[in-house]
Amino acid sequence: MNEPAGEDNQRSCMGCRQTDAREALLRFVVAGEPPRLVPDVRRKQPGRGVSVHPRYRCVEAAVRTGAFRRAVGGEDDASAPALAQVAADQYLRRAEGLLLAARRAKLMAMGTESVRDSMTARKAQLLIVAADAEGSRGDLQRAAERLGRSCLVWSTKDGLGRLFGRTTLSVLAILDTGIADALRRALECAAELVPYPPSSVQLSAGVTNPPSGLRPSVGITNPPSGLAPSAVEES
Ligand SMILES: [Zn+2]
Repeated sequence: MNEPAGEDNQRSCMGCRQTDAREALLRFVVAGEPPRLVPDVRRKQPGRGVSVHPRYRCVEAAVRTGAFRRAVGGEDDASAPALAQVAADQYLRRAEGLLLAARRAKLMAMGTESVRDSMTARKAQLLIVAADAEGSRGDLQRAAERLGRSCLVWSTKDGLGRLFGRTTLSVLAILDTGIADALRRALECAAELVPYPPSSVQLSAGVTNPPSGLRPSVGITNPPSGLAPSAVEES
């Protein structure tokens, strides 16, 4: 019964069959009657689970090979796009929760001026820029790259604003490394799961509360680590 801790932290992906760290995989739990697969991105729900890499091709393979169907006893006929979409939505809700938590803890800078200040002070760990923030987006992305920080393009000015009770919000910065890492991962997983225009995907029945206007990022840049010497320049 006493498995080595290392092996206990490993899971096999039902899609590509490769083994990976538990935390690197997306867990689905078998729930309800008739049983069906429900994503559990925080890996906290009780019950029997199956894991796949959080990317579309592994979800698709798990459906195509019947691995998911066997896991629920042959009843579940959910399609790969539907399962991937539901999981991506859960990652996006997780990302929204992380943003709200960062703001509550005052670990966020909001708006162009505050974000610039946070970069100058080298407190910004991750930038989120709305896809339609034309004016400042290029400047901020370049500034983030010079500082060796990631800059994710996500949502719209309206979508980000709505999350914080504002009319619009073009850019924000996360000031905490732990929240930044979790947020980056949630957004990257969502983008890997729905790697095509979201409008082409139908939400499955049962998804009643898709994220409010927030969609997988349209572009992710991961600049090489290492701080550039220059401070943020005013444009
Ligand atoms: Zn896989």
